[in-house]
Amino acid sequence: MKKFKTESKKLLDLMINSIYTNKEIFLRELISNASDAVDKLYFKSLTDTDVKLSKDELAIHVSFDKDARTVTVSDSGIGMTKDELEKNLGTIAHSGSLEFKTENDKAQGDDVDIIGQFGVGFYSAFMVAKEVRVVSRAFGSDEAWAWVSDGVEGYTIEEAERTTNGTDIILTLKDDTDEEKYDTYLSEWGLKSLIKKYSNYVRYPITMDCDKT
Ligand code: ADP
Ligand code: MG
Repeated sequence: MKKFKTESKKLLDLMINSIYTNKEIFLRELISNASDAVDKLYFKSLTDTDVKLSKDELAIHVSFDKDARTVTVSDSGIGMTKDELEKNLGTIAHSGSLEFKTENDKAQGDDVDIIGQFGVGFYSAFMVAKEVRVVSRAFGSDEAWAWVSDGVEGYTIEEAERTTNGTDIILTLKDDTDEEKYDTYLSEWGLKSLIKKYSNYVRYPITMDCDKT
């Protein structure tokens, strides 16, 4: 197991210990990352004639499994190599928002919606998940890797299977929290309402299994 950097551990602590009450924004953060990943591949396709994209690939897919208590956000974007998984997910990108949060707390009290203003990114998944598994295959690579973490001390990286480029973020939800919320995350109407509330601006279609039939 590899350990998280100190900055990342601090933010993870804050999140997991629920200083932020607005946990549902985790979905917005994962969808925004998926959208960025599709953007990166799309921009590559504009200059690189080897990249041929079908319309299907320019989409984000959200699914859930009620029995397994998982929520999955998938994209067919640029993906990540083993090194990129380590570099991008082993450290927090937005350490600035942590400093801002601490300083602003003193000045304005607790109800400043820092997450709403800045986004804290990928790690917000650990507000609702006891395990996050990221399976990714970088565009142009024939290898897939899985980054797995409980969001506490560190993470592992292992070989995985994925037939095409892109990324699946698989959250196994915590079992010790507000049942009502978890019914929201593990239902079609619940996820759809979160998507509508927070991800309406996303430029790619966001599909769910039920949309396909
Ligand atoms: P930010 O999106 O502001 O860069 P995040 O914490 O949300 O910060 O994500 C960290 C990094 O992890 C991203 O910059 C990106 O490089 C990588 N990443 C996260 N999700 C994905 C994804 N679905 N596909 C490809 N890369 C991703
Ligand atoms: Mg992000």
